[in-house]
Formats: sequence, structure tokens, C-alpha cells
Amino acid sequence: MNQANDLESLAEEIAACTKCELHHSRKLAVPGEGPVDCEIMCIGEGPGFYENEQGRPFVGAAGKFLEELLGAAGLKRSDVWIGNVVKCRPPGNRDPSPEELASCDAYLERQIRAINPSIIITLGRFSMAKFLPGAKISSVHGQMRRVGDRYVIAMFHPAAALHQASLKPAIIADFAELPRLLDEARRGLGRPTPDSAPPAASHPEDPKQLSMF
Ligand code: URA
Repeated sequence: MNQANDLESLAEEIAACTKCELHHSRKLAVPGEGPVDCEIMCIGEGPGFYENEQGRPFVGAAGKFLEELLGAAGLKRSDVWIGNVVKCRPPGNRDPSPEELASCDAYLERQIRAINPSIIITLGRFSMAKFLPGAKISSVHGQMRRVGDRYVIAMFHPAAALHQASLKPAIIADFAELPRLLDEARRGLGRPTPDSAPPAASHPEDPKQLSMF
């Protein structure tokens, strides 16, 4: 499959990338992971300590919480793609610089193009700023916006909700809306529900359909 090859060669490029200063201090780059045909991409800020050690996104406490949030929406971690706006750990978990964000942006763009998700969930302000410039997370969290060929939902960062207990009910409530929002996104994009039966309209004479009325 072409997109799978694209993602794989991108991951190899990212692992060897020297476009910004972060390559000096990283242990492992974190390209991101998930199925190429998934409907949802979750995009965080950048790798932390454990992600830098393992080369995988969201493997620490924030990742565990993200898995719980996805679970509450009936999704498994392996149902979605998970990655970051920067692929290498900023030392001491400092904010990524504008130069680092710019150097990494083409990788994320290519990943989005290969996956072509219906929904992008932004986790944290750097990811939100890429898709919804100027938005304030306190006003827009949990709301779905059309951005080009797909939809974007800005969520609080799971790590922020772990550190700030007052954010926890909001992030839990926002993720709980995901099944409804996914249906809405599919309808808006004219994409079918995976494994869905053919629409009733295509079988107008089906007696079982008619007997329902
Ligand atoms: N926080 C992020 O934004 N990304 C990770 O991969 C882990 C923690």
C-alpha cells in the first residue's frame, strides 16, 4: 500500500533528521505511530523523557491517560494515529522554538496527507496553533471545526489535565463526545461508516425495511 510506504520512509527520514538543533540532544526521534487508514490523528506537542528513550509517542503518564480517554470513547490506542508537532524531545521538556516547529512541519504535513484522517485532535497549544491560529483553548476545547479537507477538535493536553485537576472533567466530557463528532465528520465529508451496512435508500423494496414502519 502506497500510503504505508510513505509513512515508513517518512519515519526513516525523521529518525535520521538533522534539520534543527534538537537532533544533538535526542536519543531517539519519535515519528508517531498508528494505522495508515485510521480516521483520527491525535497530535501532541513533542516527545518527553520516556518517548525520547523509546522512540514512541505518549508512552508516559500522559499517554496512559490518553488511552483512558480514548477508551471512554470506545476507541483503542491502536485505532488512532498518535504523534507530535515536533519529533525530537526539547531538552528539559521546554517549549519547542519557532525554528524547531518550522523544521518539523513538513513531516507532519506529509503524515497528514498519507493518512488523510477525518478528524485531527490537537493536544496542547502548539498543535492547536497550527490548525486554529489565534484560538483560545478555554473557549474552543471540544468543539469541532472544519479546516480544509477535514475536521479539527482542540482538546486540552492530557498532561495539563493530570497536573491541573480542574481541567479533568472537561477533557473527559470532550472525549466522550468523540463518537458523535466522528459520525458528524463522516457525514460532513461524505465518508462511510466503516463496516456499515449499505444505506437503506439503496434497498427501497426490502420488505424487512418496510416492515419497520
Ligand atoms: N506529550 C506530548 O505532547 N507528546 C508526547 O509524545 C508525550 C507527551
